[in-house]
Amino acid sequence: MIRAIRGMRDLLPPDTERWHQVELAAREVFRRYGYREMRLPLLERTELFARGIGAETDIVAKEMYTFTDRHGDSVTLRPEATAQVVRAFLENGLARTAGVKRYFLIGPMFRYERPQKGRYRQFHQINCEALGSDAPELDVEVILLLVDILREVGLKDLRLLLNSLGCPVCQVDFRAELKLFLFDREGWCPDCERRRGVNALRVFDCKSSHCQKLLEGAPALIDFLCPDCARHYARVKELLGRFRVDFTEQPRLVRGLDYYTRTAFEVTALGLGAQDAVAGGGRYNGLIRELGGPDLPGIGFAIGQERLMEVLPAAAADVRRELVFLAYLGAAAKDRALALLGELRAQGLAALMDFDDRSLKSQLSLADRLEAAAAVIVGENELQEGAAQVKWLADSRQERLPLGELAGCLASRLKAHG
Ligand SMILES: [Zn+2]
Ligand SMILES: [Zn+2]
Repeated sequence: MIRAIRGMRDLLPPDTERWHQVELAAREVFRRYGYREMRLPLLERTELFARGIGAETDIVAKEMYTFTDRHGDSVTLRPEATAQVVRAFLENGLARTAGVKRYFLIGPMFRYERPQKGRYRQFHQINCEALGSDAPELDVEVILLLVDILREVGLKDLRLLLNSLGCPVCQVDFRAELKLFLFDREGWCPDCERRRGVNALRVFDCKSSHCQKLLEGAPALIDFLCPDCARHYARVKELLGRFRVDFTEQPRLVRGLDYYTRTAFEVTALGLGAQDAVAGGGRYNGLIRELGGPDLPGIGFAIGQERLMEVLPAAAADVRRELVFLAYLGAAAKDRALALLGELRAQGLAALMDFDDRSLKSQLSLADRLEAAAAVIVGENELQEGAAQVKWLADSRQERLPLGELAGCLASRLKAHG
């Protein structure tokens, strides 16, 4: 037997149905906020991510699925969406007109991480990107949108963590101060040892508890904000308060990418560890220019779908699907059942039947295993009388319905049930 690749997993029903509900809810919220969908390739040139995420980040340095194609080009399965949304934005000329461009993207991402519980090498994200404005009102719109999606899908007890990463102007002083702090202490892990020389901010990403302990008392970026960044951050906090969104300021929050500026945020949920955010995002004002475009700002977020599903309340245990199962006895009844099957489906009902001439008993137990709402039984008697026996499988209640009105009757009863 050939097995799936390590770290990859199959998503099967009924999980796929729950995923679909979550995605539908997200799409509905995006619609309300005027965001429209992009669908982009899974494969991009490696260079896009090296430049768009930052060569010193863990993602680019250790976690990318990179290989050489038949032509000899280095290509990478996308590890995140922002860089490629910006690539598509520039390549398709969307930067040429004024105004904020609002997009969302839903799909799989790939990172070569050590597989562990709840972490997969193919994972899924719901992404939001708003390009073309530096207004703090846009930061707040994006955060409100995120909170709305998470509430809409039923997530309770969520916690919003907020920080400002400043701009290149205020980061200069901060980096200098941080470097002094990092070189003042010894005992960093080999990664941080290297990072403190080349990209000091990345030390904050280190997962080693020893490094995290060494970082206690490190300078915080919010103490170095220039007047513009300070004003921006204050306005974001003021507006969040006005929209009654609770938040906690988290000076250590830096995000795992190089091009984040100003507002950075994460949402954690009860039931997940502090390190496991359900969603995270922030501003990336330097990224569009870094990728060869005009000097335009942008902001976005990503929701981790696997983690979101992990913390959502479980679906009710005994939910019958809105499915009608047609059982038949004998060849004539089989033909009639086939015709009925077509009628039910044409009326918009979910209906199916077995074709293998099993006993009535095994057809009914099949219906039960499929969690059908109702089983319709068609036999010789039913054909003669022009009526079918309908068994409601949740409570075993039975009734007779005229064959001619079957579709309409079942539809109205199923609607009353749902
Ligand atoms: Zn600044
Ligand atoms: Zn470290």
